[in-house]
Amino acid sequence: IRTTARLYRIASIPGDGIGTETTDAAVQVLEKLAEVSGKFAFEWDHVDWNSKTYREIGSYIPPGGIERLKKSDAIFFGACGWPDIPDHISLWSLILPLRHRLNQYVNVRPTRILRGTSSPLSSCVADPSALDWVIVRENSEGEYAGQGGTTHAGTPLAVGTEVAIFTRPGIERVMRFAFDTAAGRPRKLLTMVTKSNAQRHGMVLWDAVYDEVRAEYPDVAADRMLVDAMTCRMVLRPRSLDTIVATNLHADILSDLAAALAGSIGIAPSSNLDPTRENPSMFEPIHGSAPDIAGKGVANPVGAFWSAAEMVRWLGQGEAADRLMEAVENAAAKGARTKDLGGQSGTKEVTDAVCKELEGMT
Ligand code: ATP
Ligand code: MG
Repeated sequence: IRTTARLYRIASIPGDGIGTETTDAAVQVLEKLAEVSGKFAFEWDHVDWNSKTYREIGSYIPPGGIERLKKSDAIFFGACGWPDIPDHISLWSLILPLRHRLNQYVNVRPTRILRGTSSPLSSCVADPSALDWVIVRENSEGEYAGQGGTTHAGTPLAVGTEVAIFTRPGIERVMRFAFDTAAGRPRKLLTMVTKSNAQRHGMVLWDAVYDEVRAEYPDVAADRMLVDAMTCRMVLRPRSLDTIVATNLHADILSDLAAALAGSIGIAPSSNLDPTRENPSMFEPIHGSAPDIAGKGVANPVGAFWSAAEMVRWLGQGEAADRLMEAVENAAAKGARTKDLGGQSGTKEVTDAVCKELEGMT
């Protein structure tokens, strides 16, 4: 019998700093996964946009760049930014335009405590299953819409306005996605987060859309929280939460907290999705370029591996995604852990350990 392996074209953008190290590691692990699965293969488009590109041409994305990415089935991204370039410039020159231009309007951030790692919360040390969340982040508007301006710049009277834009269609589509996500999980539990006591326009619109969409999902137990109280609840009652939906800014902050509660920012994955599937979705660990540890071979590649697993799942290979996570957890449980997780291993040792686990599963 001849079987044809499915070929996926992946654009990989390693970027800067540890982004290049964790992306290399993820590519190696994905190649191994494809090999042991036998059901699919990857064709890579190696995209070398980074801070060097910005210094040379004043932009991270060269002309024709978006069209190039649109030819791929998915995008794998590392991290971008370097200390000589202000963070808001690198963010607004690469990652935010990609999310906007490729209509990636939701950002999904799963968090749980992987086997072999541990949480700083004593309740989760006693019972790691107490923390198992999916944060659904609005990824296209809100506080990161880029609206606002500065008047009297550079003078003692300087005024900066930062305008958050919330639109009904924008809120509605992410709210539906969050309810669908919650409905597809065993506990069918959704918490919607705003700051609608202090912000009375866009946040109140979020509340209104939540009430409407909620009526369509009688099977989902939904509640709402103010973002400040939510931080306490995440720490004090992790088990009371499952799926969480919040604005661009709020979910950004809550997902860093979630990553820390699950053990390290180095393990946290994210998926920038275009749920219409008209454009390729983009998968990236949530960590940044981390100049302090770049080039030392110590970066934790698990966030990149988990993001790779989410990419493979999005491409329709759920079994392979599960297998990859199983390998990651087996390796961690056997001691292949980087320093941020309290271990002794470097990036390469963890990568080799995961590949070895994958081989052992055939
Ligand atoms: P950004 O501005 O993009 O958020 P950053 O460099 O300011 O990036 P992060 O890289 O997200 O911040 O992380 C902050 C710190 O956490 C890093 O400086 C590093 O010490 C640590 N860290 C982040 N990612 C990892 C990782 N994968 N492995 C080990 N440590 C990490
Ligand atoms: Mg950061």
